[in-house]
Amino acid sequence: MKSDSAASGVVVVFFGPPGVGKGTVATRLAEELKYHFISSGDLLRANVKEGTELGREARSHMDSGGLVPDQLVTRMVLKSLDSLSGGIFLDGFPRTQVQAEELESYLRGRGWRLQVIDLTADDRFLMKRLVERIICRSCGAIYHRTNLPPRVEGTCDHCGGALYQRDDDRPDVVARRLEVYHQQSAPLREHYRRQGVMLTLSGEKPLEETLAAVRAALIGRNGAPE
Ligand code: AMP
Repeated sequence: MKSDSAASGVVVVFFGPPGVGKGTVATRLAEELKYHFISSGDLLRANVKEGTELGREARSHMDSGGLVPDQLVTRMVLKSLDSLSGGIFLDGFPRTQVQAEELESYLRGRGWRLQVIDLTADDRFLMKRLVERIICRSCGAIYHRTNLPPRVEGTCDHCGGALYQRDDDRPDVVARRLEVYHQQSAPLREHYRRQGVMLTLSGEKPLEETLAAVRAALIGRNGAPE
């Protein structure tokens, strides 16, 4: 993933409620700007699928829409950063004050910079987006039953893979995830605002508009990430 144009030692945190588009925006720009992409949710789901000890511990929290304990997630994410250098996009981590402090201490140790892209949206908008979200099992492409349906029902346009709904995208679990975001994660916005490292953007705008705004925040005048 890394290229010569990637900044050395910058972690860009994509922050925001579930369904706001963090993963979509980050994966699109990671490919374009040659950043690494790490999603704590993807790492956890891979552990659940493989039946690791971490996956077994994480599963009940994920199924109920609650947060996986800080220590488990933090260890998993920071370990995945160890082998990387250059520009890194983090999706879904940190989600608590403890995780944020652990990340900052890790970044200080490596002399890396932190930038935060904060995406916001109304809860009703997020609920509608999440309960109709379907995802490709093979390549992870994201569709929406009403707004962005695949050409052939149940099949990915890009790779032909089967589409599925995440277990935690059921309405009752989505409601819990939104509540958890407001209670445990949203207070972090103040933490980042005080540090002057955060850019807040609406996640309700058309995707291309959001991509352009994030791109502009990341790219310096010479075309390299700032
Ligand atoms: P996501 O794919 O980011 O929506 O995450 C799916 C689920 O994984 C969440 O609802 C949590 O249960 C768990 N999870 C992901 N990231 C974290 C994190 N940073 N801290 C705690 N739990 C997390």
